[in-house]
Amino acid sequence: MGRNNKYAEVYIDIKAFDIDHAFDYRIPPDLSSDIDTGRIVQVPFKNRIEVGYIVKVKDESELKDREIKDILKIVEKRPVFNPERLELINWISKYYIQPLGSVIKFFLPPGGKYKQAITSHRVQLKFKDFITLNRNRYNEIKDKINWKRNSSQKKIIDYLISGGEVLKEKLVKDTGSSYSSMASLADKNIISIVKKRQKRDFRYEYRPDKDLKKKKIILNSYQKNALCSIDNAIQKNIFHKFLIEGVTGSGKTDIYIAACRKVIEKKKRALILTPEIFLIPQLFSRFESELGSRVCVYHSNMSEAERYERWLGIWENEFDVIIGTRSSIFTPIGNLGMIILDEEHDPSYKEGTRVRYNAQDVAIKLGEILNIPVVMGSATPNIVTRYIAEKENDFTLLKIPVKAQSSSPLETQVVDLKKIDRLKEDTAITAKLFTAIREELEKNNKVIIFLNRRGYSNFVICNKCGSVPKCSACDLSYNYHSDRRKLVCHHCGREQNYTGRCPVCGADNIFLCGTGIQRVQSKLQMRFKNTPILRMDSDITVKKKSHQEILSKFISPGGSILIGTQMVAKGLDIEDVTLVGVINCDSMLGLPDYHMNERVYQLITQVSGRAGRKRKKGRVIIQTYNPESSVMKNVLGSDYESFYRQELASRKELCYPPFSNLVNIIISGKEENKVKKDIKELFAEISKDIRTGSSILGPAPAPFYKINLFYRWHIIIKSKNIEYSNKILTKILKRFKKFDENKIIIDVDPVWIL
Ligand code: ADP
Ligand code: ZN
Repeated sequence: MGRNNKYAEVYIDIKAFDIDHAFDYRIPPDLSSDIDTGRIVQVPFKNRIEVGYIVKVKDESELKDREIKDILKIVEKRPVFNPERLELINWISKYYIQPLGSVIKFFLPPGGKYKQAITSHRVQLKFKDFITLNRNRYNEIKDKINWKRNSSQKKIIDYLISGGEVLKEKLVKDTGSSYSSMASLADKNIISIVKKRQKRDFRYEYRPDKDLKKKKIILNSYQKNALCSIDNAIQKNIFHKFLIEGVTGSGKTDIYIAACRKVIEKKKRALILTPEIFLIPQLFSRFESELGSRVCVYHSNMSEAERYERWLGIWENEFDVIIGTRSSIFTPIGNLGMIILDEEHDPSYKEGTRVRYNAQDVAIKLGEILNIPVVMGSATPNIVTRYIAEKENDFTLLKIPVKAQSSSPLETQVVDLKKIDRLKEDTAITAKLFTAIREELEKNNKVIIFLNRRGYSNFVICNKCGSVPKCSACDLSYNYHSDRRKLVCHHCGREQNYTGRCPVCGADNIFLCGTGIQRVQSKLQMRFKNTPILRMDSDITVKKKSHQEILSKFISPGGSILIGTQMVAKGLDIEDVTLVGVINCDSMLGLPDYHMNERVYQLITQVSGRAGRKRKKGRVIIQTYNPESSVMKNVLGSDYESFYRQELASRKELCYPPFSNLVNIIISGKEENKVKKDIKELFAEISKDIRTGSSILGPAPAPFYKINLFYRWHIIIKSKNIEYSNKILTKILKRFKKFDENKIIIDVDPVWIL
């Protein structure tokens, strides 16, 4: 132990369960003033140079002086997390059973490539020259210069004298003066030329609410009541959770905006999370028109350079309100005063591939650490959220049972597909739906058709030998996509040309089964020849702006039809939509996942909520084979409360969340025998060690048993004490190192168990 030395605990960025802890390093004196928590450094580690993150600075180390090595250098100027965010990082790592290093990754500035031992950023910022007038110097010498002979220089000064700094190019263009006169002014120190980061501003063209500014919204009593409650927590600087259970169109967004105002008045910042990128433009335009230019967006569809600039802007406190998808929870917002989660029920808040965190739980944890309110809103709350909102003391449920603008309730009708005579009537677009569409189009209204299936047909089957072409990598039937004439696997994306001929018996007798969205589109186009019919699904909207383009076509005046998958169910607030048709969602109800009732209820209620949002009356037509199922009955009665009670009761009986937490452990690999062997051994260990309060299901083939050549088996832990069982599971995984050839996925609180 050296007397004057300082030490740092450094977490080395290597992915391995067994090195999941920090190491001590000495801070060399020349670095000591710049080292603190959250810095990224290079350190010697096992004869290599590795990147590490400082998680603690301390005066003493347990290690002997000669055992301890020096930090080599700092590779990022800014600390990327502070002690509070570090607490969050630790929590995420423990709760989701993930190495700390992969959690820290989320907090790094986009585009950094620290791993390659290079200090530079992959993303190049644009630096430009900015000119300012040095007023004192100018006043000092202005009488000593013959301005007549230097008229070009004088023009520059006249231009600068009225304002602040100006971009060099702009100055030259506006004054017509030359670079040389600028240089001679700089030589005399009358002006300064400073290189600065040029801030790009990218705004959205799609502004459906551009006239919102004109009509001032006065909050109704429900909204005021909610705001008052939230404001109370803002003023007191306390952690408190709110669930706004407000029917679709109840004006939740205006509550969010008003609450943000309160936060800004306190000189703090607000983060607004939304589940989907495509919901951002609409939200952004509403927030920006109310709160002004210090509102920014952050999401993964921005280029890396854009994201990096935004990240820096946030770090430099340029914005008061940040609107983004789940990854924005990791941005370095200083002095955060409130977090809002819109559409809190949405499963997209869960990251589904790498570290399987749920942004909702991360947001709540961050709120707790920072002592700030967390506001959640939905028309169809997540069963778990709703349950804890009633149960916990630091949670307030705020109900808004009425729409903000429309007074007439939705008229909901159901078409029982079992009673349709298939020979006389089309089951995709039944006579009732067809008539309703025609009526609304005649009135120049707009129609949304919802169908939860991409592609043209569900699967193809040979009418002669009965074989169904399947994806060889996933063992699941192909979907037919008519626009490209291809058979597409919806799990791995593999494609095959569609020939119309059976690959097994060679008969020209291939038959398309089930109705996909493309088939509905062509049917509607045949019947409504002159109506614009737009389609919105993930096949179309992979392009960056296509979502906005489709919507702006849809909202342009006159009758039009928008057909889509769940994308059309979320968030759209369009005046003239008076009819929503649901083709059928029955196939979802059959999936082996306890969430399905909830998902179907949410989807149909949300898509129905797109109709009749403003002055016009809305109607909904739902086609289903199961009108008598309890989900459908509750949808039809628009009765969340009754749906919630029933669903809660059945979950209680089976001990599903909220009465337990689930952990889904999936082992996958190309050789099924090895997968089975590993999962059986893991199962044995888990059942031996996790005893109290948990039941362990499996091992069983996962519902999607083979995806992209990988066989998948899983174990589900149903735990009544998740902290305890996760702790033990972490220990088991550390000593269980058999996954060399197989992949292991740990999914704590899965939103899908397929
Ligand atoms: P939600 O998010 O709850 O579905 P929105 O926030 O999109 O609902 O509000 C629905 C519509 O009602 C919006 O067009 C909004 O401008 C309008 N609105 C909200 N509050 C009021 C109010 N107090 N008075 C009049 N119109 C309102
Ligand atoms: Zn496949």
